[in-house]
Amino acid sequence: MDIKEQINQLREELREHNHKYYVLDTPVISDYEFDIKLKELQVLEEKHPEFYDPNSPTLRVGGSITKNFETVVHDTRMYSLDNSYSKEDLLDWETRIKKLVDGPVTYTCELKYDGASISLTYENGVLLRAVTRGDGIQGDNVTTNVKTIKSVPLRLTGEYPDRFDIRGEIVLPYDGFAKMNQERIAAGEEPYANPRNTASGSLKLQDSSETARRPLDCLLYNLSGERLGIRSQYESLAKAREWGFKVPQESKLVSSIDGVLEFVNYWDEKRRDLPYETDGVVVKVNDLQQQDELGYTAKAPRWAMAYKFKAEQVMTVLNEITYQVGRTGAITPVANLEPVQLAGTTVKRASLHNADQIEKLDIRVHDTVFVEKGGEIIPKIIGVDFQKRKINSIPTEYITSCPECNTSLTRKEGEAQHYCPNDQECPPQIIGRIQHYISRKAMDIDGLGGETVALLVKEGLIADYADLYALTKEQVIPLERMAEKSAENLIEGILKSKEVTFERVLFGLGIRYVGETVAKKLAKHYKNIDAIIAATEEALVNVDEIGIKIAQSVREFFDIEQNRQLINRLKKYGIQLEISAEKLANQSDVLQGKIFVVSGVFEKISRNELKKLIEDNGGKVSSSISSKTTYVVAGANMGPSKSEKANKLGIPIISEDDFLDLVKK
Ligand code: AMP
Ligand code: ZN
Repeated sequence: MDIKEQINQLREELREHNHKYYVLDTPVISDYEFDIKLKELQVLEEKHPEFYDPNSPTLRVGGSITKNFETVVHDTRMYSLDNSYSKEDLLDWETRIKKLVDGPVTYTCELKYDGASISLTYENGVLLRAVTRGDGIQGDNVTTNVKTIKSVPLRLTGEYPDRFDIRGEIVLPYDGFAKMNQERIAAGEEPYANPRNTASGSLKLQDSSETARRPLDCLLYNLSGERLGIRSQYESLAKAREWGFKVPQESKLVSSIDGVLEFVNYWDEKRRDLPYETDGVVVKVNDLQQQDELGYTAKAPRWAMAYKFKAEQVMTVLNEITYQVGRTGAITPVANLEPVQLAGTTVKRASLHNADQIEKLDIRVHDTVFVEKGGEIIPKIIGVDFQKRKINSIPTEYITSCPECNTSLTRKEGEAQHYCPNDQECPPQIIGRIQHYISRKAMDIDGLGGETVALLVKEGLIADYADLYALTKEQVIPLERMAEKSAENLIEGILKSKEVTFERVLFGLGIRYVGETVAKKLAKHYKNIDAIIAATEEALVNVDEIGIKIAQSVREFFDIEQNRQLINRLKKYGIQLEISAEKLANQSDVLQGKIFVVSGVFEKISRNELKKLIEDNGGKVSSSISSKTTYVVAGANMGPSKSEKANKLGIPIISEDDFLDLVKK
């Protein structure tokens, strides 16, 4: 088999596995096997740029940057949908339809996915472009970002039309969204408000590798253009599946409005089990001939109707807007509501997100507002009932100074959030920082909880995390709900935190954008806090995977005199501000400049330990063999293609023992 065939075969195989994994949810090989194949392909492509294919499965990781998204006119307009709210609405709609078309009417019921609409154009089975809905007539070309979404086929299978558009929704499933937010919170950033906005924001990121990292999914529901003998909506869904698209299986063909309502009632409950947000049902006249006859109004097709799930929305009165200050100083406006039952819980508060949101919805105190519980845990206000507004109501003026410390708020260019810049004295920031410091992933202090921290600050016993180490049992015992034993545990827990490793201390300091992973990177690179304090912004940016935003934030933190004093005090108390001697002893530069590829199964140490050894000793681990590779470390069952490749390029293949000898030197 020649190289070209080999490449094509790998691409085809990977495409199939990708489809099985991301579209059908039924993988037949392990992730590991998949990775091996992918790497194999990467190596071949690197060696043979002449066989470049913009739709290769290796390009899913993104990487290209879009500065300005080009505007594209849709081949056919992307309409909106009319809404219905009751059985009567649906029956009225049916009556209107039956006047316009002949014969019996059947309906396809689909779920209404709540994400960002997208139109994908395919030509000769290849994804040509992906365009956002925009104003329906023209949208933004976001192809590079959409290509990174694994369930979007880059090449189709079966018998497809030469050129067509397929439309659908890009969604962010709940678990992926929750994970993204956990990471943001850990990095001291504000969590995203909801999956839908985050999904649409993800399409407009300039760096496509960032989009690639987000667990987006693409669900499709509409074909337009040449039809390939398709006669009905239901059939077109099946066809789209055949061609490789992800078309959810929940859709159903029914022959009456009663059937539609049954579908609505069923999914109103069951949608809670779906992995992504849905906000209703879309009913479509099934017969495409009838659809053509019905046509469109100025805004929406006459042949389709949305039916929003309604159970999860209530009206209540907004009593007051208060403002919360987070540990990074970010201000979050909170709606204090007249308590109301919603989706099984009593709701008293809802997030208003930021000043823009309040302005956009024109929310005022004493307004009657619509509250909704979507995928997020915190309910949100989605609108105001303007008819119920009192004549003398006053427009909301966003606060200009911190509700806790009275400092004037700031807002960075392009950011939605206001911040209180008084990080040294603003109480919730002080408390928040200490709470972060003691949290599980940072210093993990047993016997000390978030509420106790707040109490200690209020009582004037501590003002920063270094103060924790000066606390005595006698000071703590008089506190509310403290007893001899719990006070002892608290002090003991604090003392024990002196053993916590440097990387976790670094994370615990609460530097904005320095989450767990970044802290690890910095700790490993600089080895001690003084080196980090001395590092310039340029030097920081040059560390692997540290971007400008992080570098600036690190610099800003250590440029503040108080923060440097804080570090000095931690040092005096014996907190680990450098990599431990033991760890350091296992580190060296003997592998400096050497690039390793690790393959196969090892006996004395695990694959991960081996990789760690390489990195700890200054070497680099690469996933694919190229002319730059210094050594291939081979264990049992090393793939034949790898050894072939190594031999061809004349790269030495060494054993586990050879490698360990190398490190010992
Ligand atoms: P709206 O934004 O309320 O006007 O609703 C129209 C939007 O619903 C469309 O632009 C689509 O993005 C979205 N939608 C979600 N699921 C479906 C579906 N199954 N069929 C048609 N449109 C859908
Ligand atoms: Zn403040």
